[in-house]
Amino acid sequence: TEPLIRAESLIRTIPDYPEPGILFRDITPMLADAAALRAVIDALIEPFAGQFDVVGGIEARGFLLAGAVATVADVGLIPIRKAGKLPLPAASVAYDLEYGSAAIEVHDDITPGMRVLLVDDVLATGGTIAAAKKLVAQLGGEVVGTAVLMELTALPGRNVAGEVHALFEA
Ligand code: 5GP
Repeated sequence: TEPLIRAESLIRTIPDYPEPGILFRDITPMLADAAALRAVIDALIEPFAGQFDVVGGIEARGFLLAGAVATVADVGLIPIRKAGKLPLPAASVAYDLEYGSAAIEVHDDITPGMRVLLVDDVLATGGTIAAAKKLVAQLGGEVVGTAVLMELTALPGRNVAGEVHALFEA
């Protein structure tokens, strides 16, 4: 659809950010455009409509989308945060980064049997999504889908994260 094409055109590529050699996909011009934002929120939800009880939003840019996805889909939002940011983490999963490691945490708002739609901006190596899936599973929740704006297809993200609904590819 036209607003989605427009949305894709509003994602810009910044060379050498945050480090030399990295091509950073910057979604902020897309977020600033009302029609583009609405189109991507609807498109993120579309394959999973009626199938999820809550949105799991992944820090930090995933938060920017997850709140809108939850509101439009009429469900709640659960932040999946970097370690040390939540006062009462109920589950924690560590995962490897290119250099070193990281961990993500969540509160006990995820309950057994809860159907969770994970939302993030970009799928790169897939490590973050894979860790988020383990996190939800630790609390007995069920990940019914993962929705992202953009998949970086040069990286084997899907091999790590599993099936992902990506609106755009780069
Ligand atoms: P992964 O764990 O799949 O390697 O990395 C995904 C995480 O890194 C996502 O949470 C995403 O926000 C961030 N990320 C990696 N590359 C980019 C990029 O080029 N642009 C943006 N906006 N985020 C990125």
